[in-house]
Amino acid sequence: MPRTGTQLLVEAVQQLKGVGIDDPARDARRLLSYALGVEAGRLTLCLPAPVSEEAKDRFTNAIARRVNREPVSHIIGSRSFYGRDFLVSKDVLDPRPETEILVEIALQKRFRRVLDLGTGSGCILVSLLCEMPEARGVGADISPEACMIAGKNAHRHGVAERAEILVSDWTANIAGHFDLVVSNPPYIALAEMSGLAPEVRDWEPYHALTDGGDGLGAYRAICEMVPPLLMPGGRLMLEVGHTQGRAVAELLDFVGFENVSIIPDLDSKDRVVVGEMPANDG
Ligand code: GLN
Repeated sequence: MPRTGTQLLVEAVQQLKGVGIDDPARDARRLLSYALGVEAGRLTLCLPAPVSEEAKDRFTNAIARRVNREPVSHIIGSRSFYGRDFLVSKDVLDPRPETEILVEIALQKRFRRVLDLGTGSGCILVSLLCEMPEARGVGADISPEACMIAGKNAHRHGVAERAEILVSDWTANIAGHFDLVVSNPPYIALAEMSGLAPEVRDWEPYHALTDGGDGLGAYRAICEMVPPLLMPGGRLMLEVGHTQGRAVAELLDFVGFENVSIIPDLDSKDRVVVGEMPANDG
């Protein structure tokens, strides 16, 4: 006798709860929508129906992976960011809602040429290009696997002809000038890594999370390398960990950025540091 969606869901929630998953009902529902191939919003309508053997196997497999603390995004292969769905894999940092604030701030002013350092899934670059149709951009990442994903996301959202994705150790292979440079670099201190949730610590790319030091190493490198790539008046915009705002703002001040500010996210935590290159007034 085939089981209904409701029956499978109830069992899965118990299983996820048993291993301490934060929001077991939300995850089980997302994984069941994925297994059934229905949109999340239509799942409730489908729950009373018997589930095919194939969909049941897909769901059982997905739940087993989630029990093993694999993130939902890795299981279903995508994650939503700034209103769009992005392909993700174990090779890129999962797009996070707090990074949307960086996109929002970047969009407050017009830009024509944007550079995204450590682009990962490409979620920042692609969102910016989608929202600013006259802009072009470069996404750089040291990981060739990440660059593949970023390229696919640029295609997926129709901005591939305006986005150049290239393998580069920070700015090593970058030429030209930009009026906006953005980055969400690895900023977790090595000492903090063991305290992260298993979904992050065990499944996300190590080098996208930590600099292997005090958490400020990437900012030091970026602050040293970026000024020659910025046009006069160009902006540098960096996501930071919530304790790092002041330290990163000081780095920007030190290398000559002006109007340096620290901007909080929706949780009122310091999240983005912004600075401007001095304008060329003479
Ligand atoms: N914001 C991420 C986290 O706290 C870390 C991402 C990063 O280091 N850029 O899990």
